[in-house]
Amino acid sequence: MEDIKKFIKENFYRIKENIEKACQKAGIDSGKIKILGASKKQSVEKIKIVYELGIKLFGENYVQEAEKKIKELKDFSIEWHFIGRLQTNKVKKALKLFSLIETLDRIELAKTIQKYAKKLDLVVPVFIEVNIGEELTKAGILPDKLEEFIQEVKNFDRIKIKGLMCLPPYKENPEEARPYFIKMRNLFEKLKPYMNEDFTELSMGTTNDYVVAIEEGATIIRIGEALFGKRE
Ligand SMILES: *Cc1c(COP(=O)(O)O)cnc(C)c1O
Repeated sequence: MEDIKKFIKENFYRIKENIEKACQKAGIDSGKIKILGASKKQSVEKIKIVYELGIKLFGENYVQEAEKKIKELKDFSIEWHFIGRLQTNKVKKALKLFSLIETLDRIELAKTIQKYAKKLDLVVPVFIEVNIGEELTKAGILPDKLEEFIQEVKNFDRIKIKGLMCLPPYKENPEEARPYFIKMRNLFEKLKPYMNEDFTELSMGTTNDYVVAIEEGATIIRIGEALFGKRE
């Protein structure tokens, strides 16, 4: 246990230092960058350690796994984001567990969120997931279709679009991810004038490429293995 604590603490301070450097390089206020602990397949014990270091935002990918962990952590003031692929038959449960859905990627899902949000008397904050690498195997709205999709989602009064999210193609060299992050920021800036003032978040960058993502405008970075260590 003490070993794990030390390991995670070192990871955390390394990440903080890298964030600081990236922000200095890009002229960004590092206080504006939020770290989301991507905790899928990581134990509750590890989540507690990360929480004690000051991270209060976590993301889970699987509703069933999350349900168990969120219950065990109910006394911690954690903000939970859903960051996985959301099946429509899990929406009701997801809305009860998570405060924000980062992966709205199709109208059918928006319709289902609207339906259950109304029943539960909620307004659900979401990010739109963008398939920025235009990969066949990946979820997300294609960049060309984004404006049209957002216009449709705006018709759902129980959904509030608070930002964009992406998971670009995996590149060994993070520099190769930079063009995707730049493209995301350009989409984000282009949309801003047409959105509410709480359209503020750009969720991008993971273990491998968060430094580059910050330099290109990320406001939330989603860190899994660089923080917790290898997944189980
Ligand atoms: C797993 C996951 C992450 C974290 O990935 P790491 O490489 O472990 O940092 C971030 N975002 C999403 C959507 C994920 O599924």
